[in-house]
Amino acid sequence: MKYVDEFRDPFAARGVLAAIARTVDAIGAIKEKPIHIMEICGGHTHAIFRYGLDKLTPPGLEFIHGPGCPVCVLPMPRVDEAVEIAERNGVIFTTFGDAMRVPGTKKSLLQAKADGADIRMVYSPLDALDLARRNPNRDIVFFGLGFETTTPSTALSIQQAAAERLTNFSVFCNHITVPPPIKALLDDPFMILDGFVGPGHVSMVIGTHPYDFIARDYGKPIVVAGFEPLVLLQSVLMVLTQISEGRAEVENQYARIVPEHGNPISIAACNDVYEPRDSFEWRGLGEIDKSGLKIREKYAAFDAERKFGIGYAIASRALAEPDGCRCGDVMTGRIKPRACPKFGRDCTPEAPLGALMVSSEGACAAYYQYGGAQLEDVA
Ligand code: SF4
Repeated sequence: MKYVDEFRDPFAARGVLAAIARTVDAIGAIKEKPIHIMEICGGHTHAIFRYGLDKLTPPGLEFIHGPGCPVCVLPMPRVDEAVEIAERNGVIFTTFGDAMRVPGTKKSLLQAKADGADIRMVYSPLDALDLARRNPNRDIVFFGLGFETTTPSTALSIQQAAAERLTNFSVFCNHITVPPPIKALLDDPFMILDGFVGPGHVSMVIGTHPYDFIARDYGKPIVVAGFEPLVLLQSVLMVLTQISEGRAEVENQYARIVPEHGNPISIAACNDVYEPRDSFEWRGLGEIDKSGLKIREKYAAFDAERKFGIGYAIASRALAEPDGCRCGDVMTGRIKPRACPKFGRDCTPEAPLGALMVSSEGACAAYYQYGGAQLEDVA
């Protein structure tokens, strides 16, 4: 397949893998004292396991799976609040499909739908806008979820609703941003990371400069990467090369897609519609300063939090995870998914207990789907 096969060429991959092995050797990393590289994005986690890159790279290199799956980091109280809105009379609650099964403290959106709430899966906030036009007597709420990749489309739908003076459309905003959790991870006293593979889609929107602090203030290299196996391997090699040469820079392997300064139209739409929250809760990681977005006062009429009286109050948050769930430890690199006592037994993609098993981009789901399950290891 043109434009895909070139990025999956096994001969080229062997060459890059050999270079990775040489560089890991030159650094002096071994299995007992490996180099730790975090892939921030859940799409990269999925690709690493799908193509077996963790098995092809030398034992002196260890991938740590970052918090870049927006469904996985959605905290349980926010799921409860989504259910609360969805169960109001007259509401049609719309959401991307992968959020349907995320467990709340009482139930998921899927369970709420089974209980009678009018919850519909959509592919875009524009589908929700269309529902609003066609159902003037119902309140259409869109579950705004995701990183900088999806924040612009939600922002544009709010601007469009305002332009059309729609009064029955609102957004339950849970959009989050990538740089603050990276900073929180780097500030963690347990921090073991030597470098980062940066997210491709997010960077298409924000560019590469929001990562400058990683190299400048923390002395860690980061390379923005795409999602095909050769591209990912090349990006890992670039991180390793920086480490071996004692450099810490922001590099862009995905320059064919990611502009240095991002997408100005998307950035302008987001600046118009959102402002940072003081703090936002990440499942498994806790509260992180300035890591979430809320809808600005000028678009208050389209803010489901205001419309339905559901405010984000830290004092009322319940941070507890399901009993025995170790999602937070997986996301911070403290353990691998298989070390969680629930993995493969009480927690599977069919019946997820923790958030990392819900989405295919979650580290636990990727381990399970692509051979990480190996139930003999957890029996
Ligand atoms: S196996 Fe399930 S419960 Fe354990 S860390 Fe992964 S998602 Fe959480």
